[in-house]
Amino acid sequence: MGQIQSDIIGDDGDNPRGWRSFAAHLFAPIKITWGQFFDLLVPLRHSAHIRRHAASVIISRIQLVAAIFALMVPLWSIIDWFVFPWPEWAMMTVLRLGSGVVFFLLAWPWKISKTRLQADAMLMGMLLVPPVFYILSIHITASLNVTGTALLVTKLYALMPNIVLAGLAIFPLTAFEVALFSAPAFFFAILGLFLGGETLTMDQHGPMLWLMVLVMGVAMFSGMSQLHYITALVNRAMIDPLTGAYTRRSGGEALDLQFRLASMKHTPMCVAFFDLDKFKSINDQFGHEEGDKALRTLSERLREGLRRGDVLVRWGGEEFVAILTDTTTEGAKIMLERLRATGFGLRPDGSPMTASIGVAEINADHATDWPQLIELADQRMYEAKRSGRDRAVLPEGITLVFGDKPIF
Ligand code: GH3
Ligand code: MG
Ligand code: MG
Repeated sequence: MGQIQSDIIGDDGDNPRGWRSFAAHLFAPIKITWGQFFDLLVPLRHSAHIRRHAASVIISRIQLVAAIFALMVPLWSIIDWFVFPWPEWAMMTVLRLGSGVVFFLLAWPWKISKTRLQADAMLMGMLLVPPVFYILSIHITASLNVTGTALLVTKLYALMPNIVLAGLAIFPLTAFEVALFSAPAFFFAILGLFLGGETLTMDQHGPMLWLMVLVMGVAMFSGMSQLHYITALVNRAMIDPLTGAYTRRSGGEALDLQFRLASMKHTPMCVAFFDLDKFKSINDQFGHEEGDKALRTLSERLREGLRRGDVLVRWGGEEFVAILTDTTTEGAKIMLERLRATGFGLRPDGSPMTASIGVAEINADHATDWPQLIELADQRMYEAKRSGRDRAVLPEGITLVFGDKPIF
């Protein structure tokens, strides 16, 4: 469960120094913390939501670029026909048509689920076409003693690996991923020098390799800043800024996913619906600020009490839903007793905050979809309110009355 940390620079009027000032300018206008910067270097800690959004951006950009190349690469044959003799121009045309087919397949709007693995495979596929094309074109034109326009065209082909690296700049990737996807371009560029009959001399080829490193650096910066924007936008849409819990919309997505997983694997799953008791009176007596503080404390307590795989959603004002994966009614009971023992925080007057809780379970309630689970949990929460508050109503008529137990 992430916290929203990104914000527009200048919001709090701070004056960043040192590396923070550098990072602030680099990633302006969205602020960045050390942890977030680390996440832009290596793809180790991104949430499923971020990975999915990045994958969908990568795939749609691949499709756009591939569509343009599917058209342009075969069309370029016209130039080959003018500058190369038979049979070289025909071989180049075959090569171009082959590349065109690969780009066409990449551009085709297949019905795919757009996972990160698919995005990476498609990207690698697309990035391999130009360097392979370059190597084969060297093979075809090596025996020719090219001069004039033909020489110019072959020199243009030698730029292929650089074009690949520049192309990487349009994708939201971490620095590590840019380096990884650049590796084939470097490999083929160096291989091309040997195959082209030229030895790798630093005075001649150093500038080209240096340019490649430079272009890769630009691609890294571009990829990282795009990824940072995606992360900030997704977090803003997903995480409630007051409590750090999931918003209702992203919570609905999480419920949908967890419900389908539980049905597929025949594992239990509970949802617990929390509504704070007499919360309005905190606002009325102590002000909205105190009310907000109480909500933050409650959310912290709930998150501390949940397991790693569980999800906490702010369903409405002072209503929270906890998705308890792989949990039976019995498990939910133990969890609620433990939660209540640690408490939901204190009201501003020092008395303990209490909540009315409704729980529904996928198997015990024979639920066929997640809205049904939520509906049941909501009804049971109201039952808990009606029958005296500070209690939980679970499936099969089980009621946990907390009120008679000491808190803390
Ligand atoms: P009950 O025990 O019946 O639940 O009583 P209650 O006072 O909690 O009643 P209800 O659930 O209807 O009240 C919800 C109140 O929560 C209304 C609103 O003023 C307050 N609230 C909703 N969102 C926020 C928020 O973001 N901040 C603050 N401070 N208060 C909020
Ligand atoms: Mg309420
Ligand atoms: Mg309430």
